[in-house]
Amino acid sequence: MTLKILAVASECAPFAKTGGLADVVGALAKVLGDHDSECRVLLPLYRSVVHLAEDADTVLDLGPRFGGPVRILSKRAEGIDLLLIDAPHLYDRPAQIYLDDTGRDWVDNHLRFGLLCWAGAVIGRDGVDGWRPDVVHAHDWQAGLVPVFLSQFDEETPPCVLTIHNIAFQGIFQPSTMGALGLNPAGFTQDGFEYFGNISFLKGGLVQADEITTVSPTYARELMTSEFGMGLEGVLRSRRDDLSGILNGIDTEIWDPGSDPALAQTYTSRTLKRKAANKSALLERFGLSGDGSEPLFSVISRLSEQKGLDIALQALPDAIERGARFVLLGSGSAELEKGFAELAQRYPDRVGVEIGFDEDLAHLIQAGADATLVPSRFEPCGLTQLCAMRYGTLPVVSKTGGLADTVIDANEAALAAGCATGFQFAPVTAEKLSDALSRAMDLYADRSAWQKQMRNAMKHPVGWDSSVAKVVSLYRGLAGS
Ligand code: ADP
Repeated sequence: MTLKILAVASECAPFAKTGGLADVVGALAKVLGDHDSECRVLLPLYRSVVHLAEDADTVLDLGPRFGGPVRILSKRAEGIDLLLIDAPHLYDRPAQIYLDDTGRDWVDNHLRFGLLCWAGAVIGRDGVDGWRPDVVHAHDWQAGLVPVFLSQFDEETPPCVLTIHNIAFQGIFQPSTMGALGLNPAGFTQDGFEYFGNISFLKGGLVQADEITTVSPTYARELMTSEFGMGLEGVLRSRRDDLSGILNGIDTEIWDPGSDPALAQTYTSRTLKRKAANKSALLERFGLSGDGSEPLFSVISRLSEQKGLDIALQALPDAIERGARFVLLGSGSAELEKGFAELAQRYPDRVGVEIGFDEDLAHLIQAGADATLVPSRFEPCGLTQLCAMRYGTLPVVSKTGGLADTVIDANEAALAAGCATGFQFAPVTAEKLSDALSRAMDLYADRSAWQKQMRNAMKHPVGWDSSVAKVVSLYRGLAGS
């Protein structure tokens, strides 16, 4: 039996993306098609994707809801079946998905994502154009109320999986929003969606979902501790039998150094020498000196406290003094943006910094750098290190969450066994990162050892092959029960 899945998410690559959530939703929707499943992704019709409405079919008219008219459009684009929520009063806006043009959360984000949840629940219950999902898969807090709305219906509804991509974001709003959201006040309790006197989209979802997944086995364990659970560890411990960690993969068609159009030169593990042309292009792009023999470290990241880049700022000068080059692409915290701009001023011919979001440049950096830094304080899964490995760029990562699950540290034993794929360090301190950078530079000096490790990294499975089977088996278990 073909399994029908409705994915509900605020982001889906390549249409609307601020981070890894988009990559995962888009990639999973595509690969499910190869596993006897049909996945449709419910996504708001943001202004940035309004072109998708052209030639789309209207499959459901939900009438005036959450302050304006709401229609559901159906469209297949880039290999993904989309259901788009056309609600101009909430989504037809400039700027970023979550933030207004002053950089603050839109004041009506509870309505914008409340509608996403409610529409997801209605489609779960009634289906659209004769298609009714067997399972609803809600992603992160923006879809957290899907299982809550499903539980409010009298009719029979499909089971719901909720995936936590990052528990730092919980969707917490004033209790006065309950009426506008259409939530049943009976759920405003400690065992429901109430959280210290407010409404929490994520907590509501965690309580009501039939299954909870997160994006790596280590993060699943970490989430049940006070160090990582961000206040929801108790709720998660109470649901430990329904909580599992399934590693994310990346879209290995989009991230393929053998065919990537954003590269100066494509390459494979058999034509590794050709990778060097990307390093030259990158050094040139950032105006850095060197003949390519010096190690080039990189960062592609949101600049936030989570990502540990403040310690990178402390650790990098040593490596740069030793001759390393460094490039960064990212945006976020003003303090970190300033810190990296100052680093570039201090070492103008060794450090290049680009503040912004640039998909093509991210691909070129992955291809051109020798190593990429992900010194996160916590990291549910992390995709940057997976992309890096696919491109033969060795990750230097903190030993947490999905980073711990996906990178094999180049310690003596792993080097002797010939299976290392990168460098890990713990705890997350500038000192330990410095040690890891030194180890990387020492190994880099041994060309054949470094190249062996590059090949290992490129062979490491980073796609969805093994995880999608686990996801499908979870869906089938739920659909059959
Ligand atoms: P998170 O979702 O916490 O931001 P992930 O590692 O899971 O971190 O996913 C980040 C994704 O976003 C990766 O695909 C990465 O390449 C991409 N990314 C992050 N910052 C930028 C940027 N400034 N420009 C382009 N891509 C970026």
